[in-house]
Amino acid sequence: MKKKNHKYIFVIGGVMSGVGKGIAASSIGKILQSKGFNVNAIKVDPYLNADAGTMNPTEHGEVYVLNSGLECDQDMGNYERFMDLDMKSEDYVTSGMVYKYVIEKERSLGYKGKCVEAIPHITDEITRRIHKAADLNSSDISLIEIGGTVGDYQNILFIEAARTINLRYPGDVLFILVSYLPVPGTIGEMKTKPTQNAVHQLNSYGVQANIIIARGPVALDHKRKEKIAIWCNVKSDCVISAPDIESIYDVPINFEKDKIGDIILNELNLKPKTKKDGLAPWKAFVHSTKNTKDDLNIAVVGKYFDTGDFVLSDAYISIIEAIKFSCYSLEVNPRLTWLSSKSFEDNPEKVDELKSFDGVIVPGGFGETGIEGKIKVIQHCRENKIPYFGLCYGMQLAIIEYARNVLGLKDANTLEINPSSKNLVIDIMPDQKKKLEDGNYGGSMRLGAYKAVLKKDTIAFEVYGENKISERHRHRYEVNPKYIERLEEAGMVFSGVSPDRTLMEIVELPRDMHPFFLGTQFHPEFLARPLKPHPLFTEFIRVAAHKPKPRLKSESKNSSKKRKKRR
Ligand code: GLN
Repeated sequence: MKKKNHKYIFVIGGVMSGVGKGIAASSIGKILQSKGFNVNAIKVDPYLNADAGTMNPTEHGEVYVLNSGLECDQDMGNYERFMDLDMKSEDYVTSGMVYKYVIEKERSLGYKGKCVEAIPHITDEITRRIHKAADLNSSDISLIEIGGTVGDYQNILFIEAARTINLRYPGDVLFILVSYLPVPGTIGEMKTKPTQNAVHQLNSYGVQANIIIARGPVALDHKRKEKIAIWCNVKSDCVISAPDIESIYDVPINFEKDKIGDIILNELNLKPKTKKDGLAPWKAFVHSTKNTKDDLNIAVVGKYFDTGDFVLSDAYISIIEAIKFSCYSLEVNPRLTWLSSKSFEDNPEKVDELKSFDGVIVPGGFGETGIEGKIKVIQHCRENKIPYFGLCYGMQLAIIEYARNVLGLKDANTLEINPSSKNLVIDIMPDQKKKLEDGNYGGSMRLGAYKAVLKKDTIAFEVYGENKISERHRHRYEVNPKYIERLEEAGMVFSGVSPDRTLMEIVELPRDMHPFFLGTQFHPEFLARPLKPHPLFTEFIRVAAHKPKPRLKSESKNSSKKRKKRR
């Protein structure tokens, strides 16, 4: 049930998708936090998948993983990064989850013989989930982003749930429409009509937008602002201009220039809880994004880039952001290049191109496409001492490469690709076997946060500054324990292992063998935050950028003790 004074902000898209609704919502969340409020963000996605785990990344973008192990939309990553949250499973809702729950409840007579219908049973279940998430987070404000655009068939029930919440708690609910105002090339004038239509469509569902965020290629002028205010029935200071800008991280600061935080609080009858400039640390981070000195060339060798005639990097969004945070913290400017792993198979000489990069990342992945190309890239990085960072599959393939080219096990492979190989250095995890045999694919990998322990005198131990870590995972396969001793004898160091020491979590080559050659079974990119860059990414970037080593935490503790003694 709703807490007294709890507020709800629904963020809905108008006109078209892909205009930055998630970024707008995350930025609003950030601003409200900076005014002293505890905000929980909820993303609702209209698709029927129970989660995002089974979706092809080329089509849907990155599958983002929460601590809980829930596989969800990449927008959840934006919320976690902007608002520095560790979101809960309850903060993510899909139509599939809702329908599955309602149908299972009906099957177990949970509706006591009633005819179960989309309205009210589906909408009630959506509402129940929104309240539950607010309760679990003990928040003051719930920020709920409704996936899709006004006018879609798919999200109508979510908007209907929002309408009923508004009806029930008048004054505690706000609707923000993130719209788009095109400037057609042939006309050269910003057009407001599509936004007007979106607002009218929303009206036909019984919902009136309180605030309109007017996205567009350029800023909204006064005339159009007034026009939108009149025709869309909103106050003119509630029409916020949001032109395209250089970096998504500028958005909270830009919004605040228009005082969006105060406008929202005013509409919800709230007063800021703090007089401090809560955005100060964020402003410092944004400043660092614009004050880099040298460029750093990083290659990401993957396979989920191509859709039709377009190359998208959406599948690797958390990796891109993690690289940026570490680069900015070291005052370097990241220049990322996407290399298709397949192209290294078609053209073996292509590995020479890797020399022009300061560092190479092989990200996570599944299946056999492009695998041999990735292994060639890894071999080249290892032999030519190019800093290499392997994430999940990128770690497993580094082990395969080492087994083939250093241990001489020419047919070394992973069970995922070649079950008939005699040297399966990467094998399926024992508990995963049955799941695959049963065709149980959805949400069944080793998912979410698991602890690992680190070995002293290793890069991992040094950069984390502690020996116990927790990182997020998403995999079915693991380093085959039978090969660990031989790999270690040949120089590899397993610097991170599961607490029961059965599962290898981090592998590295000592610094005297290679400047930086390290792979993780987990996905460190999911824990990188603007103000807290991930230590492994930072070390990879530091080495790639030839920056001096910072003083270790332990060193500075010792030296300050010495200093105290001397006094
Ligand atoms: N395909 C590998 C596995 O399932 C790696 C997964 C990943 O890179 N996320 O273990």
